Amino acid sequence: RYQSFAYTRVLDIHEKHLSPALTTYFPEPLLLHQGHMEWLFDYQGNRYLDFFSGIVTVSVGHCHPKVNAVAQKQMGRLWHTSCHFFHPQMHEYAEKLSALLPEPLKVIFLINSGSEANDLAMLMARAHSHNTDIISFRGGYHGSSPYTLSLSNVGLFKMTLPSGTGCQSLFSIRIRHLIILILSDALTHQALEQCAQTFSVAFGEEATVEIHQCKQLGNALVHQVPRGREGDCCQAKDRYIEQFKDTLNTSVAKSIAGFFVEPIQGVNGVVQYPKGFLKEAFKLVRERGGVCVADEVQTGFGRLGSHFWGFQTHGVLPDIVTMAKGIANGFPMAAVVTTPEIAKSLAKSLCHFNTFGGNPMACAIGSAVLEVIKEENLQENSHEVGIYMLLKFAKLRDEFEIIGDVRGKGLMIGIEMVKDKTFRIAPSMCVTKPDADFAVEVFRSALIQHMERKAK
Ligand code: PMP
Repeated sequence: RYQSFAYTRVLDIHEKHLSPALTTYFPEPLLLHQGHMEWLFDYQGNRYLDFFSGIVTVSVGHCHPKVNAVAQKQMGRLWHTSCHFFHPQMHEYAEKLSALLPEPLKVIFLINSGSEANDLAMLMARAHSHNTDIISFRGGYHGSSPYTLSLSNVGLFKMTLPSGTGCQSLFSIRIRHLIILILSDALTHQALEQCAQTFSVAFGEEATVEIHQCKQLGNALVHQVPRGREGDCCQAKDRYIEQFKDTLNTSVAKSIAGFFVEPIQGVNGVVQYPKGFLKEAFKLVRERGGVCVADEVQTGFGRLGSHFWGFQTHGVLPDIVTMAKGIANGFPMAAVVTTPEIAKSLAKSLCHFNTFGGNPMACAIGSAVLEVIKEENLQENSHEVGIYMLLKFAKLRDEFEIIGDVRGKGLMIGIEMVKDKTFRIAPSMCVTKPDADFAVEVFRSALIQHMERKAK
Protein backbone atom coordinates (compact mmCIF):
# COMPACT_ATOMS: atom_id res chain seq x y z
CA ARG A 1 0.00 0.00 0.00
CA TYR A 2 2.79 2.40 0.84
CA GLN A 3 5.12 1.26 -1.91
CA SER A 4 4.22 4.31 -3.96
CA PHE A 5 4.44 6.64 -0.98
CA ALA A 6 7.15 8.92 -2.32
CA TYR A 7 9.87 9.88 0.14
CA THR A 8 9.35 13.55 -0.69
CA ARG A 9 5.71 13.17 0.35
CA VAL A 10 6.77 11.68 3.67
CA LEU A 11 9.11 14.61 4.27
CA ASP A 12 6.39 17.06 3.34
CA ILE A 13 3.84 15.50 5.74
CA HIS A 14 6.48 15.26 8.43
CA GLU A 15 7.22 18.96 8.18
CA LYS A 16 3.59 20.04 8.06
CA HIS A 17 1.93 17.70 10.51
CA LEU A 18 4.43 16.22 12.91
CA SER A 19 6.10 17.77 15.92
CA PRO A 20 9.07 19.99 15.02
CA ALA A 21 10.63 18.87 18.32
CA LEU A 22 10.77 15.30 17.03
CA THR A 23 14.42 14.92 16.13
CA THR A 24 16.15 12.14 14.29
CA TYR A 25 19.74 10.98 14.27
CA PHE A 26 19.75 10.79 10.47
CA PRO A 27 19.44 13.49 7.80
CA GLU A 28 17.33 11.10 5.72
CA PRO A 29 15.75 8.47 7.96
CA LEU A 30 14.91 5.12 6.41
CA LEU A 31 11.31 4.49 5.42
CA LEU A 32 10.78 1.08 6.92
CA HIS A 33 8.48 -1.66 5.84
CA GLN A 34 9.10 -4.81 7.87
CA GLY A 35 11.21 -6.29 10.60
CA HIS A 36 12.33 -9.77 11.46
CA MET A 37 14.53 -10.45 14.49
CA GLU A 38 17.71 -8.33 14.11
CA TRP A 39 16.78 -7.34 10.56
CA LEU A 40 14.81 -4.44 9.08
CA PHE A 41 13.57 -4.11 5.50
CA ASP A 42 12.64 -1.06 3.46
CA TYR A 43 10.13 -0.83 0.60
CA GLN A 44 12.75 -1.61 -2.01
CA GLY A 45 13.50 -4.89 -0.26
CA ASN A 46 16.85 -3.72 1.10
CA ARG A 47 17.84 -5.47 4.31
CA TYR A 48 19.46 -3.68 7.24
CA LEU A 49 21.12 -5.14 10.31
CA ASP A 50 19.55 -3.15 13.16
CA PHE A 51 22.25 -2.43 15.70
CA PHE A 52 20.28 0.04 17.77
CA SER A 53 17.04 -1.96 18.18
CA GLY A 54 14.72 1.04 18.16
CA ILE A 55 16.79 2.84 20.82
CA VAL A 56 17.57 -0.22 22.91
CA THR A 57 13.93 -1.34 22.91
CA VAL A 58 13.41 -4.36 20.67
CA SER A 59 14.93 -6.72 23.20
CA VAL A 60 14.24 -10.14 21.67
CA GLY A 61 14.02 -9.26 17.96
CA HIS A 62 11.59 -7.50 15.61
CA CYS A 63 8.29 -9.37 15.24
CA HIS A 64 9.62 -12.30 17.25
CA PRO A 65 7.38 -15.25 16.21
CA LYS A 66 6.47 -16.32 19.75
CA VAL A 67 5.78 -12.77 20.96
CA ASN A 68 3.72 -12.08 17.83
CA ALA A 69 1.67 -15.24 18.27
CA VAL A 70 0.90 -14.38 21.91
CA ALA A 71 0.00 -10.79 20.97
CA GLN A 72 -2.32 -11.91 18.17
CA LYS A 73 -4.08 -14.41 20.41
CA GLN A 74 -4.63 -11.85 23.16
CA MET A 75 -5.69 -9.22 20.63
CA GLY A 76 -8.53 -11.50 19.52
CA ARG A 77 -9.74 -11.94 23.10
CA LEU A 78 -9.49 -8.75 25.11
CA TRP A 79 -7.39 -5.60 24.90
CA HIS A 80 -8.36 -3.57 27.84
CA THR A 81 -9.99 -3.92 31.24
CA SER A 82 -8.94 -0.92 33.43
CA CYS A 83 -8.02 -1.41 37.05
CA HIS A 84 -11.67 -1.81 38.04
CA PHE A 85 -11.68 -5.39 36.75
CA PHE A 86 -9.10 -8.09 37.04
CA HIS A 87 -7.48 -10.00 34.23
CA PRO A 88 -5.12 -12.88 34.99
CA GLN A 89 -2.56 -11.69 32.41
CA MET A 90 -1.71 -8.85 34.80
CA HIS A 91 -1.40 -11.12 37.83
CA GLU A 92 0.60 -13.72 35.98
CA TYR A 93 2.95 -11.04 34.70
CA ALA A 94 3.38 -9.49 38.15
CA GLU A 95 4.29 -12.88 39.57
CA LYS A 96 6.78 -13.63 36.76
CA LEU A 97 8.48 -10.25 36.95
CA SER A 98 8.72 -10.19 40.72
CA ALA A 99 10.40 -13.62 40.65
CA LEU A 100 13.27 -11.97 38.74
CA LEU A 101 13.92 -9.38 41.43
CA PRO A 102 15.59 -9.90 44.81
CA GLU A 103 13.75 -9.45 48.12
CA PRO A 104 12.26 -7.07 49.16
CA LEU A 105 11.59 -5.70 45.64
CA LYS A 106 8.27 -7.45 45.14
CA VAL A 107 5.53 -4.87 44.52
CA ILE A 108 4.86 -3.93 40.91
CA PHE A 109 3.20 -0.86 39.40
CA LEU A 110 2.39 -1.13 35.70
CA ILE A 111 2.43 1.90 33.43
CA ASN A 112 3.33 2.70 29.83
CA SER A 113 6.64 4.52 29.38
CA GLY A 114 10.00 5.11 31.00
CA SER A 115 9.12 8.74 31.73
CA GLU A 116 5.96 7.68 33.56
CA ALA A 117 7.95 5.09 35.49
CA ASN A 118 10.46 7.66 36.71
CA ASP A 119 7.72 10.20 37.48
CA LEU A 120 6.06 7.60 39.65
CA ALA A 121 9.35 6.66 41.28
CA MET A 122 9.87 10.32 42.13
CA LEU A 123 6.44 10.47 43.77
CA MET A 124 7.21 7.32 45.73
CA ALA A 125 10.57 8.63 46.90
CA ARG A 126 8.93 11.82 48.19
CA ALA A 127 5.93 10.08 49.74
CA HIS A 128 8.17 7.63 51.57
CA SER A 129 10.95 9.92 52.73
CA HIS A 130 8.83 13.05 53.39
CA ASN A 131 11.69 14.95 51.78
CA THR A 132 11.65 16.76 48.46
CA ASP A 133 15.17 16.99 47.07
CA ILE A 134 16.27 14.60 44.36
CA ILE A 135 19.80 13.82 43.24
CA SER A 136 20.56 12.71 39.71
CA PHE A 137 23.61 12.56 37.52
CA ARG A 138 24.76 15.08 35.06
CA GLY A 139 24.66 13.28 31.73
CA GLY A 140 21.82 11.05 32.91
CA TYR A 141 18.57 10.64 31.02
CA HIS A 142 15.35 9.68 32.75
CA GLY A 143 12.57 10.84 30.45
CA SER A 144 10.77 13.65 28.71
CA SER A 145 8.03 14.69 31.13
CA PRO A 146 8.63 17.98 32.96
CA TYR A 147 9.67 16.11 36.12
CA THR A 148 11.98 13.64 34.44
CA LEU A 149 13.46 16.30 32.16
CA SER A 150 14.54 18.09 35.28
CA LEU A 151 16.30 14.89 36.36
CA SER A 152 17.88 14.49 32.98
CA ASN A 153 20.90 16.66 32.85
CA VAL A 154 18.99 19.88 32.83
CA GLY A 155 17.60 20.65 36.25
CA LEU A 156 20.25 22.28 38.29
CA PHE A 157 21.04 24.10 41.42
CA LYS A 158 24.55 24.80 42.62
CA MET A 159 25.74 22.85 39.65
CA THR A 160 29.33 23.01 38.57
CA LEU A 161 28.82 23.93 34.97
CA PRO A 162 30.60 21.91 32.33
CA SER A 163 33.72 23.17 30.70
CA GLY A 164 33.08 21.46 27.36
CA THR A 165 30.21 20.11 25.35
CA GLY A 166 30.61 16.54 26.59
CA CYS A 167 28.24 16.64 29.53
CA GLN A 168 25.54 18.47 27.65
CA SER A 169 25.82 16.49 24.46
CA LEU A 170 22.34 15.07 24.79
CA PHE A 171 20.61 18.37 24.66
CA SER A 172 23.02 20.20 22.42
CA ILE A 173 22.80 17.44 19.83
CA ARG A 174 19.28 16.22 20.23
CA ILE A 175 17.60 19.58 20.28
CA ARG A 176 19.76 21.05 17.55
CA HIS A 177 22.10 23.00 19.77
CA LEU A 178 19.31 24.27 21.92
CA ILE A 179 20.02 23.80 25.58
CA ILE A 180 16.97 23.95 27.74
CA LEU A 181 17.48 24.52 31.39
CA ILE A 182 14.56 23.78 33.61
CA LEU A 183 15.15 25.53 36.84
CA SER A 184 13.40 25.55 40.12
CA ASP A 185 11.56 28.78 40.83
CA ALA A 186 13.52 28.97 44.07
CA LEU A 187 16.49 30.34 42.15
CA THR A 188 17.15 34.04 42.31
CA HIS A 189 17.15 36.19 39.23
CA GLN A 190 20.86 36.74 39.64
CA ALA A 191 21.56 33.02 39.75
CA LEU A 192 19.52 32.51 36.60
CA GLU A 193 21.52 35.11 34.73
CA GLN A 194 24.72 33.55 35.91
CA CYS A 195 23.63 30.14 34.61
CA ALA A 196 22.67 31.53 31.22
CA GLN A 197 25.96 33.37 30.93
CA THR A 198 28.06 30.38 31.89
CA PHE A 199 26.26 28.16 29.41
CA SER A 200 26.65 30.66 26.60
CA VAL A 201 30.35 30.83 27.33
CA ALA A 202 30.67 27.05 27.54
CA PHE A 203 28.94 26.41 24.26
CA GLY A 204 29.83 29.56 22.41
CA GLU A 205 27.84 30.43 19.35
CA GLU A 206 26.91 26.82 18.81
CA ALA A 207 24.15 26.93 21.35
CA THR A 208 21.07 28.88 22.13
CA VAL A 209 20.28 28.82 25.80
CA GLU A 210 16.65 28.90 26.81
CA ILE A 211 15.65 29.13 30.40
CA HIS A 212 12.31 27.93 31.66
CA GLN A 213 11.43 28.52 35.24
CA CYS A 214 9.37 25.58 36.16
CA LYS A 215 6.73 26.55 38.70
CA GLN A 216 5.50 23.01 39.28
CA LEU A 217 8.80 22.08 40.82
CA GLY A 218 8.08 24.44 43.71
CA ASN A 219 10.77 23.98 46.27
CA ALA A 220 11.44 20.44 45.09
CA LEU A 221 14.93 20.79 43.86
CA VAL A 222 16.91 18.56 41.64
CA HIS A 223 20.63 18.54 42.27
CA GLN A 224 22.96 17.13 39.73
CA VAL A 225 26.26 15.55 40.42
CA PRO A 226 29.07 16.12 37.97
CA ARG A 227 30.35 12.92 36.54
CA GLY A 228 34.07 13.24 37.25
CA ARG A 229 36.29 14.24 34.37
CA GLU A 230 35.24 12.92 30.95
CA GLY A 231 37.00 9.72 30.03
CA ASP A 232 38.35 8.73 33.41
CA CYS A 233 35.41 6.49 34.18
CA CYS A 234 37.32 3.50 35.45
CA GLN A 235 39.67 4.86 38.11
CA ALA A 236 37.97 7.88 39.51
CA LYS A 237 35.92 6.56 42.43
CA ASP A 238 37.33 8.93 45.06
CA ARG A 239 36.78 11.93 42.88
CA TYR A 240 33.21 10.88 42.17
CA ILE A 241 32.50 10.38 45.86
CA GLU A 242 34.00 13.74 46.71
CA GLN A 243 31.73 15.45 44.19
CA PHE A 244 28.77 13.41 45.31
CA LYS A 245 29.32 14.51 48.91
CA ASP A 246 29.66 18.14 47.80
CA THR A 247 26.26 17.91 46.16
CA LEU A 248 24.71 16.17 49.15
CA ASN A 249 26.07 18.79 51.49
CA THR A 250 24.63 21.81 49.71
CA SER A 251 22.47 23.46 52.31
CA VAL A 252 19.10 22.51 50.80
CA ALA A 253 20.06 18.92 50.08
CA LYS A 254 20.86 17.83 53.62
CA SER A 255 17.80 15.67 53.58
CA ILE A 256 17.06 13.84 50.37
CA ALA A 257 14.01 12.16 48.89
CA GLY A 258 15.80 10.07 46.31
CA PHE A 259 18.80 9.38 44.12
CA PHE A 260 18.19 8.35 40.49
CA VAL A 261 20.86 6.53 38.56
CA GLU A 262 21.18 4.51 35.37
CA PRO A 263 23.53 1.59 36.05
CA ILE A 264 25.21 2.59 32.77
CA GLN A 265 24.28 5.96 31.27
CA GLY A 266 22.64 5.14 27.95
CA VAL A 267 21.69 8.30 26.08
CA ASN A 268 24.84 10.06 27.23
CA GLY A 269 26.96 7.55 25.31
CA VAL A 270 27.25 4.34 27.34
CA VAL A 271 29.04 5.91 30.27
CA GLN A 272 30.10 3.67 33.16
CA TYR A 273 30.86 4.54 36.77
CA PRO A 274 34.00 3.65 38.68
CA LYS A 275 33.90 0.33 40.47
CA GLY A 276 32.50 0.56 43.99
CA PHE A 277 31.14 4.07 43.50
CA LEU A 278 27.43 3.25 43.52
CA LYS A 279 27.72 1.16 46.67
CA GLU A 280 29.17 4.10 48.55
CA ALA A 281 26.77 6.57 46.95
CA PHE A 282 23.73 4.48 47.99
CA LYS A 283 25.02 4.43 51.57
CA LEU A 284 25.43 8.22 51.64
CA VAL A 285 21.93 8.75 50.25
CA ARG A 286 20.33 6.40 52.77
CA GLU A 287 22.18 8.09 55.65
CA ARG A 288 20.33 11.26 54.65
CA GLY A 289 16.92 9.63 54.54
CA GLY A 290 16.70 9.15 50.77
CA VAL A 291 15.79 6.12 48.68
CA CYS A 292 17.86 4.82 45.77
CA VAL A 293 16.26 4.39 42.35
CA ALA A 294 17.87 2.28 39.63
CA ASP A 295 16.66 3.31 36.18
CA GLU A 296 16.88 0.02 34.28
CA VAL A 297 15.04 1.32 31.21
CA GLN A 298 18.06 0.51 29.01
CA THR A 299 20.17 -1.78 31.16
CA GLY A 300 17.54 -4.28 32.33
CA PHE A 301 16.27 -7.63 31.03
CA GLY A 302 19.63 -9.29 30.47
CA ARG A 303 21.13 -6.79 28.05
CA LEU A 304 24.30 -6.43 30.13
CA GLY A 305 24.93 -10.16 29.85
CA SER A 306 26.59 -10.95 33.17
CA HIS A 307 23.43 -10.06 35.14
CA PHE A 308 19.73 -9.65 34.46
CA TRP A 309 19.66 -6.16 36.03
CA GLY A 310 22.24 -3.42 35.76
CA PHE A 311 22.21 -2.70 39.52
CA GLN A 312 23.47 -6.26 40.13
CA THR A 313 26.65 -5.44 38.22
CA HIS A 314 27.40 -2.84 40.93
CA GLY A 315 26.58 -5.15 43.85
CA VAL A 316 23.84 -2.80 45.13
CA LEU A 317 20.18 -3.27 46.05
CA PRO A 318 17.98 -0.31 45.08
CA ASP A 319 14.74 0.60 46.86
CA ILE A 320 12.94 1.27 43.59
CA VAL A 321 13.62 -0.07 40.08
CA THR A 322 12.15 1.52 36.95
CA MET A 323 11.92 -0.34 33.65
CA ALA A 324 10.47 0.19 30.16
CA LYS A 325 11.70 -0.17 26.54
CA GLY A 326 12.88 -3.80 26.30
CA ILE A 327 10.25 -4.94 28.81
CA ALA A 328 7.77 -5.63 25.97
CA ASN A 329 10.00 -5.70 22.87
CA GLY A 330 8.66 -2.34 21.64
CA PHE A 331 5.02 -2.59 22.74
CA PRO A 332 4.27 0.36 25.08
CA MET A 333 4.71 -0.90 28.62
CA ALA A 334 6.69 0.05 31.71
CA ALA A 335 6.95 -0.93 35.35
CA VAL A 336 8.11 0.34 38.71
CA VAL A 337 9.09 -2.28 41.24
CA THR A 338 9.56 -1.44 44.89
CA THR A 339 9.33 -2.73 48.43
CA PRO A 340 5.98 -3.31 50.20
CA GLU A 341 6.91 -0.54 52.64
CA ILE A 342 7.50 2.10 49.96
CA ALA A 343 4.41 0.98 48.05
CA LYS A 344 2.37 1.51 51.22
CA SER A 345 3.80 5.00 51.71
CA LEU A 346 2.62 5.92 48.22
CA ALA A 347 -0.81 4.40 48.76
CA LYS A 348 -1.20 6.41 51.97
CA SER A 349 -0.81 9.69 50.16
CA LEU A 350 -2.14 8.95 46.70
CA CYS A 351 -4.64 6.87 44.78
CA HIS A 352 -2.49 5.86 41.83
CA PHE A 353 -4.44 5.17 38.68
CA ASN A 354 -3.30 4.67 35.11
CA THR A 355 -5.75 4.01 32.24
CA PHE A 356 -3.56 1.73 30.14
CA GLY A 357 -1.20 0.43 32.80
CA GLY A 358 -1.37 -3.35 33.17
CA ASN A 359 -3.65 -3.91 30.18
CA PRO A 360 -3.91 -7.57 29.08
CA MET A 361 -2.22 -6.92 25.72
CA ALA A 362 0.90 -5.41 27.29
CA CYS A 363 1.02 -8.03 30.04
CA ALA A 364 0.65 -10.93 27.60
CA ILE A 365 3.48 -9.50 25.50
CA GLY A 366 5.61 -8.77 28.57
CA SER A 367 5.16 -12.38 29.74
CA ALA A 368 6.12 -13.73 26.32
CA VAL A 369 9.26 -11.55 26.31
CA LEU A 370 10.34 -12.95 29.68
CA GLU A 371 9.79 -16.49 28.42
CA VAL A 372 11.75 -15.86 25.21
CA ILE A 373 14.70 -14.34 27.11
CA LYS A 374 14.86 -17.55 29.17
CA GLU A 375 14.07 -20.11 26.46
CA GLU A 376 16.55 -18.64 23.99
CA ASN A 377 19.27 -17.91 26.55
CA LEU A 378 19.37 -14.30 25.44
CA GLN A 379 21.13 -13.02 28.54
CA GLU A 380 23.93 -15.51 27.91
CA ASN A 381 23.95 -14.52 24.24
CA SER A 382 24.28 -10.83 25.22
CA HIS A 383 27.24 -11.78 27.36
CA GLU A 384 28.96 -13.86 24.73
CA VAL A 385 28.33 -11.74 21.63
CA GLY A 386 28.87 -8.57 23.71
CA ILE A 387 32.38 -9.57 24.77
CA TYR A 388 33.19 -10.79 21.26
CA MET A 389 32.08 -7.49 19.74
CA LEU A 390 33.68 -5.28 22.39
CA LEU A 391 37.04 -6.93 21.72
CA LYS A 392 36.62 -6.44 17.98
CA PHE A 393 35.80 -2.77 18.38
CA ALA A 394 38.68 -2.38 20.81
CA LYS A 395 40.98 -3.67 18.04
CA LEU A 396 39.60 -0.98 15.73
CA ARG A 397 40.53 1.58 18.36
CA ASP A 398 44.17 0.53 17.93
CA GLU A 399 43.81 0.87 14.17
CA PHE A 400 42.05 4.26 13.96
CA GLU A 401 43.10 7.37 15.80
CA ILE A 402 39.61 8.80 15.46
CA ILE A 403 38.33 6.24 17.96
CA GLY A 404 39.02 7.61 21.42
CA ASP A 405 37.41 4.99 23.62
CA VAL A 406 35.53 1.71 23.37
CA ARG A 407 33.46 0.74 26.41
CA GLY A 408 30.34 -0.93 27.67
CA LYS A 409 28.99 -4.22 28.87
CA GLY A 410 27.03 -6.97 27.12
CA LEU A 411 25.07 -5.56 24.23
CA MET A 412 25.41 -1.96 25.32
CA ILE A 413 28.55 -0.64 23.69
CA GLY A 414 29.83 2.89 23.23
CA ILE A 415 32.48 3.91 20.73
CA GLU A 416 33.69 7.39 21.46
CA MET A 417 34.91 9.26 18.45
CA VAL A 418 37.45 11.99 19.00
CA LYS A 419 35.56 15.29 19.32
CA ASP A 420 32.86 14.19 21.71
CA LYS A 421 30.77 12.02 19.46
CA THR A 422 29.71 8.58 20.55
CA PHE A 423 28.33 5.72 18.52
CA ARG A 424 25.97 3.60 20.52
CA ILE A 425 25.58 -0.04 19.70
CA ALA A 426 22.70 -1.90 21.30
CA PRO A 427 21.21 -4.54 19.01
CA SER A 428 18.42 -6.97 19.87
CA MET A 429 19.69 -9.72 22.12
CA CYS A 430 19.26 -12.34 19.41
CA VAL A 431 22.27 -11.08 17.38
CA THR A 432 24.93 -13.55 16.39
CA LYS A 433 28.71 -13.46 16.07
CA PRO A 434 28.46 -13.32 12.25
CA ASP A 435 26.20 -10.25 12.66
CA ALA A 436 28.88 -8.72 14.89
CA ASP A 437 31.60 -9.50 12.30
CA PHE A 438 29.51 -7.86 9.61
CA ALA A 439 28.82 -4.76 11.73
CA VAL A 440 32.46 -4.29 12.69
CA GLU A 441 33.52 -4.64 9.05
CA VAL A 442 30.92 -2.07 7.92
CA PHE A 443 32.08 0.30 10.65
CA ARG A 444 35.68 -0.27 9.65
CA SER A 445 35.08 0.45 5.97
CA ALA A 446 33.11 3.60 6.88
CA LEU A 447 36.07 4.79 8.94
CA ILE A 448 38.46 4.08 6.07
CA GLN A 449 36.25 6.09 3.71
CA HIS A 450 36.09 8.90 6.25
CA MET A 451 39.88 8.97 6.63
CA GLU A 452 40.34 8.93 2.85
CA ARG A 453 37.91 11.83 2.41
CA LYS A 454 39.73 13.78 5.09
CA ALA A 455 43.12 13.12 3.49
CA LYS A 456 41.98 14.54 0.14
N1 PMP B 1 15.22 6.29 31.29
C1 PMP B 1 16.18 5.95 30.41
C2 PMP B 1 17.47 5.42 30.92
C3 PMP B 1 15.98 6.10 29.03
O1 PMP B 1 16.94 5.78 28.17
C4 PMP B 1 14.73 6.59 28.58
C5 PMP B 1 14.43 6.74 27.10
N2 PMP B 1 15.51 6.93 26.27
C6 PMP B 1 13.75 6.92 29.53
C7 PMP B 1 14.02 6.75 30.87
C8 PMP B 1 12.42 7.47 29.11
O2 PMP B 1 11.66 6.47 28.53
P1 PMP B 1 10.41 6.83 27.58
O3 PMP B 1 10.96 7.41 26.31
O4 PMP B 1 9.72 5.50 27.41
O5 PMP B 1 9.55 7.80 28.33
